[in-house]
Amino acid sequence: MTIPTEPIGSIPRPLELIDAIKERGGADPALEPLYEEAIRDTIKRFEATGSPVITDGEQRKYHNFWTYCVQGLTNTAPDGFKIPFTAGHTRRMLRLTGGPFHYQRSADTYLEAALRYAHVPVKQAVISPSALSLMYPAGEIPGYSREEFIDDLLREHETEIRNCLQKGAHKVQVDFTEGRLAIKIDPSGNLLHTFIDLNNLALSRFTPEERSRIGVHTCPGSDLDSTHSADVDYAELLPSLFELKAGNFYIALAGERDRVRVLKVLARCLKPDQRVFIGVVAPIDPRIESPEEIRDRVLEAARYIPVEQLGTTDDCGFSPFCDDTTTSRDTAFEKIRARVLGTALAEALISQKS
Ligand SMILES: [Zn+2]
Repeated sequence: MTIPTEPIGSIPRPLELIDAIKERGGADPALEPLYEEAIRDTIKRFEATGSPVITDGEQRKYHNFWTYCVQGLTNTAPDGFKIPFTAGHTRRMLRLTGGPFHYQRSADTYLEAALRYAHVPVKQAVISPSALSLMYPAGEIPGYSREEFIDDLLREHETEIRNCLQKGAHKVQVDFTEGRLAIKIDPSGNLLHTFIDLNNLALSRFTPEERSRIGVHTCPGSDLDSTHSADVDYAELLPSLFELKAGNFYIALAGERDRVRVLKVLARCLKPDQRVFIGVVAPIDPRIESPEEIRDRVLEAARYIPVEQLGTTDDCGFSPFCDDTTTSRDTAFEKIRARVLGTALAEALISQKS
């Protein structure tokens, strides 16, 4: 019996890379050596934590997890959809100004670069169609209908996932941070259902076998040590979330006030062909969790979730937005090491009992 453990994605970038991006913009070819060194160092340190699955730390997602694929498109404007965070700041999406819509870059190129350095399986995070759907403005774009946009969006997203799977991603994780936020924006649940339906249109294009390598990540947001929707009750989100046709779910849990309540909801929602990876470390908490504390969280979860459907993860990436320096690289890797050790401790105890 093994309890799989996987990261979410981002690791804080080296400060000199962040400074260079600020100075020259993220797409300047002069930054190539800095990106390569950041990826090489991230993977080396990731592997040193013992993490059986790693990422490239999203070192090349030079804006964030959300707009990496559309940054630099000429048919966009900067004044798109806003996410307000509890720290008082907002982050913004790009707004589409004309069709046709296509990706500027695809995450499988990041995967390819990571695989050149990695000795263990690499997972790749991609942004959800629902997050990118927020780029289309409230009014219709003349000559480019919302329906045409959605067709283009789904094609680009499907291609990105297929390329990642084909290039050997251990898992492809669809980032769906806007799920919980959708309830906050629209408590009726209509927006959330629109998001779920859209993402299912994409997921339906994959076979059950492919979907066993596809996952969905949800969280209340994580930026500058703050969140955007932690006040939304998980019970409002989770039943709909598990309607997504994905094989894996990566759910922020360590930062929740009442974990047992969430675990009970999870136990009700989880379908037989789905696995849930529960968050056991909180990236926005500067304190480093101990392996024993993590062990106890896994044992707690195993009281509600069948252990063959359980895994562990981090609550979120450690810096989903590239310029977030509130967590150091050292802290991120120490937390990951604790997750790996704590999960193994729980696994050993559970194996002994069974
Ligand atoms: Zn997250």
